Amino acid sequence: MFNKLFGKLSHDLGIDLGTKNTLVYVEDKGIVINEPTVVAVNTRTDEILAVGEEARRMIGKTPSHIQAIKPLVDGVISDFEVTEKMLKYFIDKAHEGGFTFSPRPRVIIGIPLDITEVEKKAVEDAAKSAGARKVYLIEESMAAAIGAHLPVTDATATMIVDIGGGTTEIAVISLGGVVTYKTLRLAGNELDNNITQYIREEYNLLIGEQVAESIKIRIGSAIPMREPMEMEVRGRDLINGLPRSITIGDAQVRETMGRSLHQIIDNIKATLEATPPELVADIYEKGIVLTGGGALLRGLDKAIAQETKIPVRVADDPLICLAKGTGMLLADPVLLNKVLSLPSEEL
Ligand code: ADP
Ligand code: MG
Repeated sequence: MFNKLFGKLSHDLGIDLGTKNTLVYVEDKGIVINEPTVVAVNTRTDEILAVGEEARRMIGKTPSHIQAIKPLVDGVISDFEVTEKMLKYFIDKAHEGGFTFSPRPRVIIGIPLDITEVEKKAVEDAAKSAGARKVYLIEESMAAAIGAHLPVTDATATMIVDIGGGTTEIAVISLGGVVTYKTLRLAGNELDNNITQYIREEYNLLIGEQVAESIKIRIGSAIPMREPMEMEVRGRDLINGLPRSITIGDAQVRETMGRSLHQIIDNIKATLEATPPELVADIYEKGIVLTGGGALLRGLDKAIAQETKIPVRVADDPLICLAKGTGMLLADPVLLNKVLSLPSEEL
């Protein structure tokens, strides 16, 4: 009885601090936070007005003294103070309903592959001042691969391609480590930009970033679909400044995203070329796994498979795969030890 009540006072956390979305996994509970990485700040008082989804809804609609800040850019912290406050808000929220006097949690948090020591330290410090007792840094590709149930510690190679908002990370993993990788600052956001630019040039129409994203999600695809799709899009006419709407089709959207998608595929090929032949043989056999929200783009798996001649599959729930991976690591200290990225102070 005593043990049951007091045996486990702190629930450790796994955090996916993404450019676009932040997720928090609580040990024994699962994912309890899944919100956009956005904070609304009153610039007159520096006060935080909203965090996550509530702040996202303010984007593009704020008066001059309110700013909707995205504190991460291309996978790394660009606004330390805001990131720290956001993490504190999410960690506190994740602990709601828990023990008031519970010790501070240990936190496993994902970091990009090409991060500098200074950027690494910033993630660690932000998590610590947001309330973490101890911080374990893990490469995001590794956490995503674990979340996708790939055999990361085996002597067989797997390739994981995580397509987020700001960055695409391509990694070959074997024996608990990343063997070869490429990261590019081109992912979901850039596809949205492609669409915005196309509509501006083709129709003299200005659309907001959330409209562009919704076009991509609703009718975007990497290869032709069986059924053509259309969507009505509202924006502001660049000539007379008035609201106007147009209808756009899936073929136009595919065409405008084509160059960016090809760049992703070219980098996958280049990573394969830089990978030792034994490992490439494994990848040909086991296939490539896609994670991150970008993996949900229709037909992207098929487009990559066609170009690389390697089977491709999308991980289950690609948007939450990485956070699930951090959760699996919370429950498996032996695995955590094997795949841990060295804490910056120990380097
Ligand atoms: P990050 O790790 O950078 O926070 P996520 O893995 O959360 O990014 O993915 C966010 C990206 O996935 C965004 O660019 C979003 O537009 C894109 N995305 C989400 N759902 C879909 C979908 N169904 N089709 C295409 N892209 C999508
Ligand atoms: Mg991510």
